[in-house]
Amino acid sequence: MSLLAAGAVFACALANAGPVETLPPSEPIIAVGIAHRVRKLALRPEGRFSLIDQSTGIMEQLEPGREYTVEGDSRGRVVFGPYLFMGTTRLLPGKAAEFVIIGERRFSGNLVFQANPDKTVTVIDELGIEDYLRGVLPKEMSPDWPMEALKAQAVVSRTFALNNLGKYSASGYDLSDDAHSQMYSGLTVQSVRVDKAVRATRGQVLSYRGERIPAYFHSCCGGHTTDPAAVWGGANKTPRPLRGVADRSCRDSPHFRWRAYFRLSDILRVLQKRGWNAARLEDMRPGRRSGSGWLSDLRIKVDGAWKRIGANTLRLWLGPQQLKSAKITAIKRRKKGFEFFGGGYGHGVGLCQWGARAQADEGKRYPAILESYFPGAELEESSP
Ligand SMILES: [Zn+2]
Repeated sequence: MSLLAAGAVFACALANAGPVETLPPSEPIIAVGIAHRVRKLALRPEGRFSLIDQSTGIMEQLEPGREYTVEGDSRGRVVFGPYLFMGTTRLLPGKAAEFVIIGERRFSGNLVFQANPDKTVTVIDELGIEDYLRGVLPKEMSPDWPMEALKAQAVVSRTFALNNLGKYSASGYDLSDDAHSQMYSGLTVQSVRVDKAVRATRGQVLSYRGERIPAYFHSCCGGHTTDPAAVWGGANKTPRPLRGVADRSCRDSPHFRWRAYFRLSDILRVLQKRGWNAARLEDMRPGRRSGSGWLSDLRIKVDGAWKRIGANTLRLWLGPQQLKSAKITAIKRRKKGFEFFGGGYGHGVGLCQWGARAQADEGKRYPAILESYFPGAELEESSP
C-alpha cells in the first residue's frame, strides 16, 4: 500500500525527533479500517504521541490524557483538536506499547487519519499481523477455550487475513474491523492465553500444493461443514481441503440443533423491504440441498407463484443471529408464521469452532484439529 510506504519514509526521517516506528520489520503489516467515513470522533492518548502531516511533514505533539476531537473538512484536511493538517495524518507513539482510546476501544499500532471529500474521516490502524491477531482472537473465540483450539483459530485467522490483504484498498485499508472481515477492536481485550496461542503459531498458515488456501471459520457446523460454493455460489471445483466434512465433535454445542419461529408478517415485510413485489406469503419449503445437508436455496410461494431465494441470503435478511444457519432441515407452517428446524451456527465453511473446542478437550493438538477440517492442507510458515 502506498500509505505504508509514505509512512515508513516519514517515520524514518523523523526518527531523531521523538516518535518511534513500531511496525515490526519481520512480519506482514495489516491496515485495518477502524472508523469508516465518520463525521467526528473523540480520541484520548494515554501516553506521548506525535502527529505527522504526511503532505507537509509538519509535526505536533499530543498531550497525554487530553481529549481531542477529529474531523475532516471538504478540502481533504484533517482538523485534529486545535491543529489543522493539510492531508492524511499519521499518529505515532513516543515509545512502543503506548495506547490511544477511541470510544470504548484501545489501540496500539500506528493510526492514520484520512479526510474524505464528503467531510468525513476514515481511521486506519496499521500493525503487524501477529499483534492484529492478538486483537482478533478474543473477539472471535472465547479466551477461556482450550489452548489447542485457540491455536487452530490463530492459524485460520492469520491465513484469512493474509488472503484478504487489499480487500478494501479503495477505502485505503486492507480489512474492516467487523464480521465482513474478522472482528477486531484493537487491544481493548488482552488475554495472556490468546497471546500464547498467537506466539506458538507465529507465521503459520494453511496451504495446499504450495498455495495459501481460502480459510474460513464459523461457530458450529451442526454435524457437517459445507463447501464454499454451496453457500456463496461460484467455484465449480472446490479444492480438497475446502470440501465439506462430517463432524460429530460439535454435538454438545448449544447450536448443534435449533428451532426458530418467524411471524408471517415479519417475513413478508423483510421480503418487501428487499424489493419483492409480494402481497401475500403463502408457503415456504426447503429447496436444493447439497450433499453436506446445507440448503442452497428455499422455495417461497407468494401471490400464487413459487419463487426461489438463496438460503444464505434469506438468513442474512432475517438476521444471522435469529436464523442461525442455512442448514435447515424442515420448515413447518404454524398458525401465524413458520417454524424453522436446523443445525449449526454460521456459514458452515471451514473450521467449526465448537468442534475444535471439543477435539482440544479430547487431547488433540492443533495440527490434527486443522487436518480434520481442512483435509490435505499443510501448515506452512508465511513469508513477510
Ligand atoms: Zn462441527
